[in-house]
Amino acid sequence: MNEFQLISRYFEWPTPHADLGVGDDAALMSLQPGMQLAVSADMLVEGRHFFAGTDPYALGRKVLAVNLSDMAAMGAIPRWFTLSLALPAADAAWLAAFSAGMRAMAQQYGVDLVGGDTTRGPLTIAIQIMGEVESGTALLRSAANPGDDLWVSGPLGGAAAAVMHRQGRVSLPGAVLPLCESRLDDPEPRVTLGRNLRGLATAALDISDGLLGDAAHICERSGCGVEIDLALVPYPTELDCLPTALLQEAILSGGDDYELCFAAPLEKRAEMAVLAQTTGLPLTRVGRLVAGAGVRVLAPGGTSLAVTHAGFDHFA
Ligand code: ADP
Ligand code: MG
Repeated sequence: MNEFQLISRYFEWPTPHADLGVGDDAALMSLQPGMQLAVSADMLVEGRHFFAGTDPYALGRKVLAVNLSDMAAMGAIPRWFTLSLALPAADAAWLAAFSAGMRAMAQQYGVDLVGGDTTRGPLTIAIQIMGEVESGTALLRSAANPGDDLWVSGPLGGAAAAVMHRQGRVSLPGAVLPLCESRLDDPEPRVTLGRNLRGLATAALDISDGLLGDAAHICERSGCGVEIDLALVPYPTELDCLPTALLQEAILSGGDDYELCFAAPLEKRAEMAVLAQTTGLPLTRVGRLVAGAGVRVLAPGGTSLAVTHAGFDHFA
């Protein structure tokens, strides 16, 4: 199998949202009138972002899911993506499973694979995703205001607990492990939630590196601080089996849940409750934006908690 056979066999899919897809020197797409193009890229490297030997079907789903999550965090409709692959070898079984997983996720969210690049090298998967959002309505990190509530979707910490288990730092009971593994291996991008947060949230992002680190990004970009009430942060109750320090690390600093974190004015609380109903997602108020800078975590009783793990940083 040469490079061109590999591409046409595994990565040439129908592209209903594109004018021209895989096979030429470039793809061609058209934006609908009144829409802005939202573009984001994410690269996953074996041994750093996923364990060597990860199931290729699940991996194909996940690498696209984490990119879809960035579209969700902008409030954009995901439309197109490119796939750049470095592969150690042209392994037909691996490619078939990987492309099937990615294609299932692409179909589920209506995104078209419009091109990419394929080369030999240590397993690396880079996606550039593109979406459309009504001009001027994208969810930025920079528009939160002191006094806004801070919200999160979904329970946090499940994915981080699965990572701790695989690293041998904890041993999760058999009844708890599958839940945590599915949070880590098969995250659900919150695209519908993101679309519906336009006009409600003042700022948003997806939690990929941990709540504290990601909330800090909203603070920095919006020029304010945030207080998080530890007791309000939702997590799967099954994680109560973890020692307290590890539980706190998982829910405050654990990445990989790909839930959304967002700020909204107090007067939007009733609309948030309705949105939780219509999306079927738990939406939880976990704190508030304040004047100043930085993230403070408040323990029950209002004392500040010393927090050591601020989030994942590849160069720390
Ligand atoms: P070029 O030599 O012009 O860079 P390539 O030979 O790299 O073109 O790729 C041929 C075509 O296949 C292009 O349309 C490119 O976008 C597409 N392509 C290459 N690799 C992938 C991939 N992994 N997934 C999807 N499309 C790909
Ligand atoms: Mg090329």
